[in-house]
Amino acid sequence: MVCRRCGYAFYGKMARGRVGGGRTAAYGYYRCLGTDGHRFGGVAPCDNRSVRSDCLELAVWNEIRALLEDPQRLAAEYRRRLNELHQGGDDRGQAVVLDRQIEGLRRGMGRLLDSYVEGVIDRDAFQPRIAGLKERLARMTAQRQALTEAAEAERSLALVIGRMEDFAAKVHRRLDELDWLGTREIIRRAMAETG
Ligand SMILES: [Zn+2]
Repeated sequence: MVCRRCGYAFYGKMARGRVGGGRTAAYGYYRCLGTDGHRFGGVAPCDNRSVRSDCLELAVWNEIRALLEDPQRLAAEYRRRLNELHQGGDDRGQAVVLDRQIEGLRRGMGRLLDSYVEGVIDRDAFQPRIAGLKERLARMTAQRQALTEAAEAERSLALVIGRMEDFAAKVHRRLDELDWLGTREIIRRAMAETG
């Protein structure tokens, strides 16, 4: 849980006070770290309200349940983020083309170096050309690396979704009968499954 107003985490606390019916009892709530003045030299950067733990936990649980009931929602969100990182297109085709270009650049650098060593071109001609080739090589290598990372992200996404679906199928029927500890265990495991 992160505070929308200031970005600090919320943390759980217990307190004693009047609850429904006027009797005194212990109750839990979550509070934004940013509202604790003593943590920030006396001046709290945030004045967001605390939230009763039963309300907040129910909201979190409803999110987890929705996820367990429809793991494809998680998949859709991951895909949306992946698409933001790269504009889609024919990644595999692009990778083949880039590999060829990188190979060509390396050969070109080799030939240029030979020409320099053999005295065909002098230092003044050699240096700017090798620098230009190096720069292009670095650019292409970075593009190639990005393609590899996108492919890996796509693969690990498929794994996560598969695990999530298995997990959801296993726990689905029990969701209505869970007690507090059972609920907490499901949330922990759901977090672990999605990494
Ligand atoms: Zn805050």
